[in-house]
Amino acid sequence: MNRGFYCERCRKEIKYRDDLVTTTFLFQLVPYHDECYSKDIKGMRTFFVGNQPLNGLSGNIQTLIALILGIAAFFLLDENGRLTSLLAFVVLGYRLYSYFKFEKKLAP
Ligand SMILES: [Zn+2]
Repeated sequence: MNRGFYCERCRKEIKYRDDLVTTTFLFQLVPYHDECYSKDIKGMRTFFVGNQPLNGLSGNIQTLIALILGIAAFFLLDENGRLTSLLAFVVLGYRLYSYFKFEKKLAP
């Protein structure tokens, strides 16, 4: 069931959900070790990634905020505003994708 996920930075297997950080890189979902993520993101690749982790508490809060804003934009704004609400669903989509692709398959 667990095919194993390998850290984008050190190429070693990520074994535990607590150790996993997912983020997007050029629209692809990539897994990192928690420690590798902090080191990598604080380094050069910040320019390319420029992103919060998708999973964990900050990712969940980010997804929730995006969803609330997205729903609000959909009901309150005109047609152009409604397009921005689509972005919220993209964020939600990535969050679910991260969950089903990685987190669900790892031991907590
Ligand atoms: Zn790593």
